[in-house]
Amino acid sequence: MVIHFIKGDEIMNLVTCVQETAKSKPTKTAYHFQGKDTTYAEFDQSVSMFATALQDLGIGKGDHVAFLLGNTPHFLISLYATMRIGATAIPVNPIYTPDEISYIIQNSDAKAVIALDMLLPLVEKAAGAFPTVEHYIICETTPETPAKIAALPEAVHAKIRPFSQLIASGKPGLEPVAVDDNETAIILYTSGTTGRPKGAMLTHGNIYSNARDVADYLSFSEDDRVVATLPVFHVFALTVVVNAPLVKGATILLVPRFSPTDVFNVVKENKATIFAGVPTMYNFLYQFPDGKAEDFDSVRIAISGGSSLPVSLLHDFEEKFDVRISEGYGLSEASPVTCFNPLDRDRIPGSIGTNIINVENKVVDELGNEVGPGEVGELIVRGPNVMKGYYKMPEETEATIRDGWLYTGDMARRDENGYFYIVDRKKDLVIVGGYNVYPREVEEVLFAHRDIVEAAVIGLPDPDFGESILAFVVLKDGLSQDEAQLLDYCNKRLAKYKVPKRIEFLDELPKNTTGKILRRSLKDVVTQ
Ligand code: AMP
Repeated sequence: MVIHFIKGDEIMNLVTCVQETAKSKPTKTAYHFQGKDTTYAEFDQSVSMFATALQDLGIGKGDHVAFLLGNTPHFLISLYATMRIGATAIPVNPIYTPDEISYIIQNSDAKAVIALDMLLPLVEKAAGAFPTVEHYIICETTPETPAKIAALPEAVHAKIRPFSQLIASGKPGLEPVAVDDNETAIILYTSGTTGRPKGAMLTHGNIYSNARDVADYLSFSEDDRVVATLPVFHVFALTVVVNAPLVKGATILLVPRFSPTDVFNVVKENKATIFAGVPTMYNFLYQFPDGKAEDFDSVRIAISGGSSLPVSLLHDFEEKFDVRISEGYGLSEASPVTCFNPLDRDRIPGSIGTNIINVENKVVDELGNEVGPGEVGELIVRGPNVMKGYYKMPEETEATIRDGWLYTGDMARRDENGYFYIVDRKKDLVIVGGYNVYPREVEEVLFAHRDIVEAAVIGLPDPDFGESILAFVVLKDGLSQDEAQLLDYCNKRLAKYKVPKRIEFLDELPKNTTGKILRRSLKDVVTQ
């Protein structure tokens, strides 16, 4: 099904939106980076220059361009230039291991790779390794980079183009290459539930509709200044702090790396109005000793997503910073947002909120039949935001999208009023003596303990009960607790079969860059 988003005679997408703002409000700031403002007109011009330079390299409609970039303007320019020439962008986490990066570059059939200069050693090694890659575009972030590029062996050097040279060689005023809504704009590699990462193909219609619908649901306006400290290569940031602000003509405040000091400074200096983070970020901001309520004075919307926000942290944060947090939910395959809490008093702590505009969520049983309020089942999703499929994986696509519904692999329940609650990942369910235990329930109890900063729970094989619960906790600095005390605390608050059999104390929990706890690594801790 092709869904058109039409305004007047024009089909709207992210590219045309930015172009329109560049024309109607050329002096409006599109993004702020390291003390410098860039207007929509300047951004649009850079996009056009880079886009025409890419065309001169022979890159065009249908070609794939991989990005190994962080939160710098290079990412914004590369993304919008790639889409403007009808090519497909493949944002990749630049700190993945060389093996992971190689797999994605190969699997995605990338014709060009745009990388930060810190990855030059990797590029040097890889330059001959990928038959499809014709060009490596290196973004210079330090004065030494040009000399490093010049010193590369000729065979490698021939494939490398410095970003700044390329953009300087381009031309302004490029009209966007026409694309249909169901053409792939972005491929996002996601680990999914099993095996190698899969490339979720998101169309122009998918990413435009989700950015617009989230922005409308959360009432973003052109006056907003949105902190972008979430990693922009991840779908949460891509839609909520990059595309949604750009759709509304708002301003993005780029923060290259998350740190409480940088976040508070950027918020204060720019009077930021919207902050979006994963629960770990809220935890760091809350624990930061110098954080004060007035640091967040200008923020009118605080958004959490990516993993579940412990209810005790939500309350603590709201009390300390006098701001209301709205939690939402999404996944790469849905561009990503499907649910959000309303901003007003109706937000429910512990819930991921209600259907956003144009998107339907449903909780179903094993046979795909909807279950009643309060009952737990798999969350499935339908809407213009649902991906076209996985790149070159028709079987996985068929297993994931059935009858037009995306099966999320998350277990959830819905209440009488249409609010959804994530219970846990389907695969993280632990079965103790025949009883279902969702780790999240145990983690919430541990999290509510005043000495605990972080907690995670996994299942381990158990000779008597099939599986048993193992908990990992991180205590606040300088505090000590013994296992028996904590088990006693759990015993008072949880049914007996949900109480951990063991509790391990760690200095920190293994997490990926978007704050998701790496449960597989926790299992490795035990088997070591
Ligand atoms: P990704 O594709 O990397 O964005 O990961 C998507 C997954 O993150 C979902 O399938 C959920 O398991 C998890 N997730 C996202 N938001 C939430 C949330 N608010 N609460 C619980 N889990 C979440």
